[in-house]
Amino acid sequence: MEDAVALQVRDIRKSFGQHEVLKGISLDAKSGDVVSIIGSSGSGKSTFLRCINLLETPTGGDIIVNGELIEMKPGRSGDRVPVSERQVQRIRSRLAMVFQGFNLWSHMTVLQNVIEAPVHVLGVPKAEAIDKAETLLKRVGLFERRNYYPGHLSGGQQQRAAIARALAVDPEVLLFDEPTSALDPELVGEVLGVMRSLAEEGRTMLVVTHEMAFARDVSNHVMFLHQGKVEEQGHPEQLFTNPNSERLQQFISSIY
Ligand code: ADP
Ligand code: MG
Repeated sequence: MEDAVALQVRDIRKSFGQHEVLKGISLDAKSGDVVSIIGSSGSGKSTFLRCINLLETPTGGDIIVNGELIEMKPGRSGDRVPVSERQVQRIRSRLAMVFQGFNLWSHMTVLQNVIEAPVHVLGVPKAEAIDKAETLLKRVGLFERRNYYPGHLSGGQQQRAAIARALAVDPEVLLFDEPTSALDPELVGEVLGVMRSLAEEGRTMLVVTHEMAFARDVSNHVMFLHQGKVEEQGHPEQLFTNPNSERLQQFISSIY
């Protein structure tokens, strides 16, 4: 059986005013793929992820989630806008995102954070959502802290809570935007460990990261972005041991 395509991105472009930040990026992620996106600051990595889950509207190109094309139409100022807000809501819940800065709701406990979207967006009965949230919190090692507020947790614990929250909607694809960049070095490992276990259980993941060991060991595809274009991509083994592009060579040596 052929592996299902979880996410197709075709020739995505994004301009802010005159500044073209994404110059046509395509990606096919099959179910279970772990794609790392690397590149220097300003190369368009965050904008790419934000376009995929429609936090930004791409200026051009198509996004297809599990076979469903996100419909866009021309907007007023020459940009494009999604045709259906309902479709956007639905698609966004299929593509859960984990941010650099955790973005937990500070006035809610960990458990409340995790059940919020299932209960209020997906309409899951509360008792069922709590059951599932508790299982997920055990999974990320936070069950004992389920009634804590985010402000009383370490950065690593907050990020693990954010991952549990992302998993709670059963997303097709998990999007991570530098999930460990804001953490103290000694807390990076616990978050990467959770991400590694998600990859091992076959989750489809797109990960913007500066953790080259993670990109090399865990992902099965790496994209190197440079000035809004894919400068080089391929299997991590090939990319890291034998990069073709001089820019990628420079980038790798600057990171290590
Ligand atoms: P990266 O995540 O690789 O560091 P970004 O996607 O954040 O890069 O940014 C790529 C480029 O797009 C940068 O030049 C940045 O200044 C620009 N940019 C990002 N978001 C906006 C915005 N909302 N308005 C204008 N320019 C933006
Ligand atoms: Mg970024």
